[in-house]
Amino acid sequence: MSNDILVLVEHRDGVVAESAHELLGRARQLAGSSGGEAVAVVFGSGIDALAGQLGAASRVLTVDDPSLAQPTPAAYQAALVAILRERQPLLALVPNSGIGMDVAAGASAATGLPLAAYATAVEVDGGAPRVTCRIYGGKIDATVRFRDGRGIATVVTGAFPAAAGQVAGSPPVERVALPAADSRVRFVALHRPEAGDVDITREAILVSVGRGIGEQENLEIVGELAGALGGAVSSSRPIVDSGWLPRTRQVGKSGLRVKPKLYLALGISGAPEHLEGMRDAELIVAVNTDPRAPIFGVAHYGATVDLLDLVPALTRRLAG
Ligand SMILES: Cc1cc2nc3c(=O)[nH]c(=O)nc-3n(C[C@H](O)[C@H](O)[C@H](O)COP(=O)(O)OP(=O)(O)OC[C@H]3O[C@@H](n4cnc5c(N)ncnc54)[C@H](O)[C@@H]3O)c2cc1C
Repeated sequence: MSNDILVLVEHRDGVVAESAHELLGRARQLAGSSGGEAVAVVFGSGIDALAGQLGAASRVLTVDDPSLAQPTPAAYQAALVAILRERQPLLALVPNSGIGMDVAAGASAATGLPLAAYATAVEVDGGAPRVTCRIYGGKIDATVRFRDGRGIATVVTGAFPAAAGQVAGSPPVERVALPAADSRVRFVALHRPEAGDVDITREAILVSVGRGIGEQENLEIVGELAGALGGAVSSSRPIVDSGWLPRTRQVGKSGLRVKPKLYLALGISGAPEHLEGMRDAELIVAVNTDPRAPIFGVAHYGATVDLLDLVPALTRRLAG
């Protein structure tokens, strides 16, 4: 058994994901409290060089095999289970991404280690982890401890600052053998987002539109406002489901999690599935004709006016 804090590192095309920096930065701080080390765990093929991007870790454990070139649940789970059994860390931090949720849930079932999902805060106090999780679609925050003091947490994007994990250095790499896995799922193809579209997770200003926009042609005024503000247009799910904007613009549970400096919510009611994707924005301004709309529960500023009146007036004001 150790007091180490493990971090499962996601990466693509030779670049470590932002989530890895967020989790490693936090793991370093937690390791200071637990008396262990922050250990990065990387699965893939030809990945030794990634250690150069993981300076926040004290050590890097790699499982390097051609069969891990793309994430497949069985192989990734088998690799993580082998490491958890052998190293017995105090805590394993996994990104709450599509891949991470899959791998962490499987590893929890296989090892019997409890899983705290949708974590937004992680502490170590009294030598044991304490994790705050979003439950019921983000309506309630629950703070939990693991029964035997050890466990796995999947952490939502943006829970910790990435800067704390962006540390120069190249920690030692230790290779771990790939255990045999009963791989009934085969990787077929990677579908990348449409080329040329904006990455709303990286935009500082999002003008987000919901069903209150009424008709597709009204999107034009929203695009003009986003242009005047120097931001991008995002949306709630119904707008994407209607085919009015591409899926890459959807904010929420089944879309993308965003954390811009400004999130302007236009005609969005604020359903829990939408709030899950944007409630961590630095400044939320909501425009909705219904004063009881739940979006006002998370907004810093709000206006109960018709967005079709406000948006062109605001664009004119910004332009003039
Ligand atoms: C499993 C699951 C996953 C989901 N994932 C997502 C997700 O990722 N993202 C997401 O967004 N949703 C998601 N949803 C759907 C979610 O539950 C809501 O249905 C959706 O967010 C509602 O979108 P909306 O706010 O645009 O529409 P509505 O709820 O219809 O709200 C429209 C709002 O516009 C206001 N309005 C109307 N006219 C005007 C006007 N002229 N000016 C100003 N305000 C006006 C109304 O008062 C209303 O509040 C998911 C649902 C499920 C079950």
